[in-house]
Amino acid sequence: MSRFWSPLIATLSPYVPGEQPKIANLVKLNTNENPYGPSPKALAAIGAAVDDGLRLYPDPDASALKQVLAKYHGVQPNQVFVGNGSDEVLAFIFQALFQHDAPILFPDVTYSFYPVYCGLYQIAYRTVPLRAGFALAVEDYQRLNGGIIFPNPNAPTGRAVARDEIERLLQANPDSVVVVDEAYVDFGAQSAMGLVECYPNLLVTQTLSKSRSLAGLRVGFAVGHADLIEALIRVKDSFNSYPLDRLAIVGAAAAYEDEPYFQHTRQAVIDSRTALVAQMDALGFETVPSAANFIFTRHPAHDAVIVAAGLRAQGVIVRHFNKPGIDQYLRITIGTVEQNHALIAALSAVLAVTAAPLA
Ligand SMILES: *Cc1c(COP(=O)(O)O)cnc(C)c1O
Repeated sequence: MSRFWSPLIATLSPYVPGEQPKIANLVKLNTNENPYGPSPKALAAIGAAVDDGLRLYPDPDASALKQVLAKYHGVQPNQVFVGNGSDEVLAFIFQALFQHDAPILFPDVTYSFYPVYCGLYQIAYRTVPLRAGFALAVEDYQRLNGGIIFPNPNAPTGRAVARDEIERLLQANPDSVVVVDEAYVDFGAQSAMGLVECYPNLLVTQTLSKSRSLAGLRVGFAVGHADLIEALIRVKDSFNSYPLDRLAIVGAAAAYEDEPYFQHTRQAVIDSRTALVAQMDALGFETVPSAANFIFTRHPAHDAVIVAAGLRAQGVIVRHFNKPGIDQYLRITIGTVEQNHALIAALSAVLAVTAAPLA
């Protein structure tokens, strides 16, 4: 706090990203990165772009990348917006498309960046309680609102909502912008991308950080009606004309051109998740059904904070959210088969030494 701060800055409570520890050899299962590397073709394309061309500014429209994304998702390039990670794309959406005359709606347990953007852009919001088992019920979103946003699958629960349900929500809210944040969709949920042609109020965001294993490159995008995309371009060009650098544009495009690698690694994550959930069940954990590259899990007889600390002492890092309603859960990223073995071994050791509290 300083007297030089603007009054708004003093009121913010910024997002706290998961830790990126500097220690080597940790089993890092706390920030939902992909345990497999990026496509070798993406790496080669980035390497090939490291040359004298870096002298020049990149294409402000990233049109080569937009073309690849449009073709992949069966839309026109003017229905695609690209940004510096989907977090930036989401920030622009909050600023450009959410209204201020009624609160926007999102689930009570969800991506903790949403209330942060509301604070930054002074948007009122109302959280909508999830149902039993963290299920999202679209009927709960039938009330006056300035916009609706939720991740599908939801974060940090991993639970997905079916495309038919999303369509029902869109039909009930024709006058609001509805944003489906599909950061994890490739790990087992149904994408709403196919609905953008029918619903001019729908925006779908995706990222290359999770299923494409390029969190370090910072590329995300939105797909929707060209009028919505134009609003995002207006914000971008009032802020930073070049959110994607030359390496990001070519690397992201190359990642989409390596479909076999994508299919192979995403299936490996899904298989690893299935195996991990079975092992967690055997240890007595209760795990929310996940369509993502992480699980949300609790042990009925062991405190989540103590389990997380015990894991950490053995070099395994997972994420805990100190929030009412979810403070007994751990969010654990799906690792490789070897990382999952290390996790299960560490968990077994922790459960053996931490006494279960009296019932
Ligand atoms: C990871 C994540 C994002 C943002 O990812 P970027 O790396 O900024 O593209 C957006 N929404 C949710 C729910 C996420 O978990």
